[in-house]
Amino acid sequence: MAKKQFAVIGLGRFGVSVARKLMEARHDVLGIDIRDEKVEDVEQYFTHAAVADATEEKALTALGVRNFECVIVAIGNDIQSSILTTMLLKNLGVQKIIAKAVSKRHGQVLEKIGVDWIIYPEKDMGERVAKQLLSPNVLNYIELSKEHNIEEIKLPVKMVGKNLRELNLRAKYNINVIALVRDGDVIVSLSPEHSLQQDDFLIVIGNRKDLVKFSDL
Ligand code: ATP
Ligand code: ATP
Ligand code: CA
Repeated sequence: MAKKQFAVIGLGRFGVSVARKLMEARHDVLGIDIRDEKVEDVEQYFTHAAVADATEEKALTALGVRNFECVIVAIGNDIQSSILTTMLLKNLGVQKIIAKAVSKRHGQVLEKIGVDWIIYPEKDMGERVAKQLLSPNVLNYIELSKEHNIEEIKLPVKMVGKNLRELNLRAKYNINVIALVRDGDVIVSLSPEHSLQQDDFLIVIGNRKDLVKFSDL
């Protein structure tokens, strides 16, 4: 992936986590916070870090924020600052704006402003925890639509030693295997004769109801 320029506004736990991952992937990250101690904490790890009030247009312009491909607004509790900042970014013509919302109403306002991706960290994480508790065999999942998921599911014990031809999962469970994860390696071109082992994970695509039936085995 080509090197990209990201700006993260608000260096709380959420903002710092996003920025850290982007830095690890060797992208450029500008971190901005109104409090100097927050900026001091991250200065040595980020490409740039600046103390600024993001609700001031002059400050954003001086930092060249409009030139960034993607800006993440990680201000949460101070809803007014979050909204003012996103409005300014939108007016400056920033291509892609991602913002964290702390409530449904906060999210609705961000949507009106035209934020490209609104994240509800607590709500999303809570749902993931519940899903994990309800389906302990599902390690990971992606919601493709209201009905379909891609899920990483632990191989049911009774299928250990069998292969895809014998298991006939398409016919029996109406699901399709995309790949196999074994010891952290992903095997994408999986032959129907490949023998499955204990502790294997299957990456499968299918209807959510069918996936639940399979992961509950
Ligand atoms: P988190 O839940 O991510 O840990 P938090 O609960 O500490 O965050 P938030 O209110 O979500 O706090 O704010 C995140 C950061 O945004 C804080 O470090 C805060 O100083 C910063 N921030 C708030 N207002 C502004 C602003 N106008 N300009 C720049 N940074 C701001
Ligand atoms: P099909 O039309 O079902 O793909 P096929 O004989 O062309 O039939 P093969 O690739 O030879 O398919 O595999 C034989 C059987 O193994 C399939 O019918 C299916 O039941 C199972 N199978 C193979 N690959 C997968 C997969 N990726 N996901 C689920 N089941 C599979
Ligand atoms: Ca918080």
